Amino acid sequence: MTVQTIDTDYLDQPGVAAAYLVVEGDEAAFVETNTAHAFPRLLEALDAAGRAPEDVRWIIVTHAHLDHAGGAWKAVQACPNATLLAHPAAARHLIDPSKLVKSAEGVYGVERFRALYGSLEPIPAERVRVMDDGGVLRWGSRDLTFLHTRGHANHHMVIHDSATNTVFTGDAFGLCYPALQAGGPWVFPSTSPTDFDGRAAIEAVERIVATGATTAWLTHFGGIGDLRAAADSLNAQLRASVALVEAADASGVDGDALDAHILEAVQAWFDGAIADRGLGADARALVAMDVELNAQGLAFAVRKARFKRSRP
Ligand SMILES: [Zn+2]
Repeated sequence: MTVQTIDTDYLDQPGVAAAYLVVEGDEAAFVETNTAHAFPRLLEALDAAGRAPEDVRWIIVTHAHLDHAGGAWKAVQACPNATLLAHPAAARHLIDPSKLVKSAEGVYGVERFRALYGSLEPIPAERVRVMDDGGVLRWGSRDLTFLHTRGHANHHMVIHDSATNTVFTGDAFGLCYPALQAGGPWVFPSTSPTDFDGRAAIEAVERIVATGATTAWLTHFGGIGDLRAAADSLNAQLRASVALVEAADASGVDGDALDAHILEAVQAWFDGAIADRGLGADARALVAMDVELNAQGLAFAVRKARFKRSRP
């Protein structure tokens, strides 16, 4: 066993957000931490693998969004020999989380933010190592290769593991909830605020396929094979997202009407996918937050494009 999926029980639901435990010799690494609430689950998995917090050498987060890195501070505190590996821009936010908290409160609202994430404490800079694009970390028998992948977030990276020829994709290779696969494979992109860039997201998808990995470990949720097929589906959806943003931008619609227009389009895409697969109300409930976040991110992209053009 070298890669183990840990269900973090995010939103008190199984199969929504994963963290991963990687064991190398006597050492261990976590890839993703979910929120601080999930840390007991990470410890249980570590214990079941016969390893102690002292054996954790690396804590790796794909990006600074809080369902990925919100518990990193707790893991760093509890694992005295661990170093946090992060994208340079993510590292800054985890060392000083004040901006991260403010922006997440903006997306989720203060009350929901507290319920979801609890507190966020700074991580001492000396416990953090930034990973550059293409950086390779030799760890025992394996090489971990870090690839910066914009599109979902500017501070996003994926990690290829040579020992298993698999890749940890965070949110750069879409979401694929196990509970929604009964009617055929369904992977969809995350276009959540505030960095969504459809063209960069397609480049990231292709970069992940180009690693030649046989499995992509999605944070939401678990391992998927046949990366080419998933990539084709993701890219088609990303192109549709780009087209929606451009058409909405060109239409001049603004304010609440812009948000409503985008939300309607995104909801229709999801409803269509649910109907195609013969899924029902449970599926609609499971993706409700993704519909909302994806729509917010696309509306944000429209406003950002206009703002950029408005500057001299
Ligand atoms: Zn996520």
